[in-house]
Amino acid sequence: MDIKLLNEEKDKATYLIKGIDTNLANSLRRTAQEVPTLAIDEVEFIKNDSALFDEIIAHRLGLLTLKTEKGILSRDECSCKGKGCSKCTSVLKLKAEGPRTVYASDIKGKDIIVYKKTPLLILTKGQELELNAYARIGIGKEHSKFSPALVYFRPLAQIDFSKECDLCNACVDACPLHLLSFQGKEVSVSDINSCDLCNACVDACNKKGKNAISIKPSKEDFVFVIESFGQLSVREIFTGICRIIEKHLKELDKKIAKVL
Ligand code: SF4
Ligand code: SF4
Ligand SMILES: [Zn+2]
Repeated sequence: MDIKLLNEEKDKATYLIKGIDTNLANSLRRTAQEVPTLAIDEVEFIKNDSALFDEIIAHRLGLLTLKTEKGILSRDECSCKGKGCSKCTSVLKLKAEGPRTVYASDIKGKDIIVYKKTPLLILTKGQELELNAYARIGIGKEHSKFSPALVYFRPLAQIDFSKECDLCNACVDACPLHLLSFQGKEVSVSDINSCDLCNACVDACNKKGKNAISIKPSKEDFVFVIESFGQLSVREIFTGICRIIEKHLKELDKKIAKVL
């Protein structure tokens, strides 16, 4: 396996992973839902005069993005052994009185709210809201509020142009990502890693009565994208994915050893 970082932005990274198959690429993608993150899991309401039911406010609080300590594999594997410590649990408080909009920034406690401008609800004159919220470590497989990222992949495109090409330019104009151009007397692809296999170039060529382009998805090279929701950095998510897969493989190894 060979991994190359193609592009890295604040909360998004694109990798080229070579020498694997669809199954392993999909395992990497799915295992992101096992990387633990912190989310509000229980809410104790002291006062709620707002127009919203307790459950709706609790649901909104649960979807807030909370900064998470890196390297925790699960609540049980935290150094507190599941008892609850500052790494795997956090108590947050909210007290507000209308008239006003209540934002995530109104929540007090450890500074772990990532998007502080998230609006939670509106209180009208005289309405009060007071609650304690308990954030805990969990995984996206349990509830999507713990999901750390949007992870997806596509096969690397393999594009070939045949001698049938008469340099008519139709494919160059048709590519929505502007990846095709003429280099001398040949069509060339400027960035094959960005090709999303949309086939617009092939269709344009076929409309001209030609069949000069062949596009095939690679079976072993993949463009793999991680878009973090903000609890962890992309690198922490990728490292977490690899550590969890390693852990699963060790468990599988032990189970196989028992039956052999
Ligand atoms: S559309 Fe077909 S024939 Fe025209 S330049 Fe592209 S590959 Fe060549
Ligand atoms: S498959 Fe789509 S993105 Fe790729 S080169 Fe052709 S038109 Fe462009
Ligand atoms: Zn702990």
